[in-house]
Amino acid sequence: MTDMIDPFGRAVNYLRISVTDRCDFRCVYCMSEDMNFLPKKEVLSLEELDRLCSAFIRKGVKQLRLTGGEPLVRRNIMSFMHAMRRHLDSGALEDLTLTTNGSQLSRFAHELVDCGVKRINVSLDTLDPEKFKQVTRWGNLNKVLAGLKAATNAGLHVKINTVALKNFNDIEIDDMLKWCGDQGYDLTLIETMPMGEIAGDRNDQYLPLSQVRQDLGERWTLTEIDYRTGGPARYVRVEETDAKLGMITPMTHNFCESCNRVRLTCTGTLYMCLGQDDAADLRAPLRASESDVLLENAIDEAIGRKPKGHDFIIDRDTKTPSQSRHMSVTGG
Ligand code: SAM
Ligand code: SF4
Repeated sequence: MTDMIDPFGRAVNYLRISVTDRCDFRCVYCMSEDMNFLPKKEVLSLEELDRLCSAFIRKGVKQLRLTGGEPLVRRNIMSFMHAMRRHLDSGALEDLTLTTNGSQLSRFAHELVDCGVKRINVSLDTLDPEKFKQVTRWGNLNKVLAGLKAATNAGLHVKINTVALKNFNDIEIDDMLKWCGDQGYDLTLIETMPMGEIAGDRNDQYLPLSQVRQDLGERWTLTEIDYRTGGPARYVRVEETDAKLGMITPMTHNFCESCNRVRLTCTGTLYMCLGQDDAADLRAPLRASESDVLLENAIDEAIGRKPKGHDFIIDRDTKTPSQSRHMSVTGG
């Protein structure tokens, strides 16, 4: 197994893969209501996804996270998950996981465990059914809560991801923290990131987590801990609940020095950095030959261009995001 080392000496061992651009929700910060989705022939087949992921695993990827769109609405995605289990069994892959909106978990939680999944991230911004409807447009809170219960019953460890939104769930963060503590879930708060055109003004949603943290610190004992995942989150322990609280602050913090990841879209485009437009097309070399030589060369070439860091900004005059692609393209 060869390690992928980028020009700045960082080992790339984490692949996030968006397996579909489609979703059964339309979260207001993520998608517009009338999204245009990709035609099927553009999207990698499950067999192609397998070839690609297997190539990355041969090259040293230890952690594979499925995302989207909503990964669990991709047809037959479980057959792909079952196929990935062979890499866990061989020891080449250490962690197979996904980020989901939770809508399909009642159906799939047990099968995910059968595939070797141990932990999942579930996105949930509010515990109020009306507000849930408002933020997801199409979602149903009860269905997600039932899915979470099924996940816990199946033995999955759950981390909740909550996007912090000004004048929306800022007053609920204490409740979320308590609820997560009660359920045994960790919680990660995410600042809104300026990605993709959506209805409304992003500056209205932006809630700096530095402010949230200061505020929470008045009521909770937050202890700095060393826990790192190589990603953007920084963690504290909430002493009262004994749960981890993560904060992802891409706009106020630089987390690039420890970046260990790359992101693949469902069309086989590899983004070496979430905050930059440079990308490599892996679908062409994948489809050009049955052997993986071209593909592996293209991966090496792409890792060789991984940039040092990023710079997210919402342009305060034009209100346009610095990144034109939607989060559902690269899956966060
Ligand atoms: N559908 C799945 C879900 O919602 O968990 C996976 C894909 S979703 C794009 C991955 C994560 O990105 C979710 O936690 C979501 O809340 C977050 N997200 C989407 N758009 C965002 C934005 N503009 N800023 C910050 N986080 C965003
Ligand atoms: Fe779908 Fe996830 Fe985007 Fe919400 S955040 S619209 S659930 S992809």
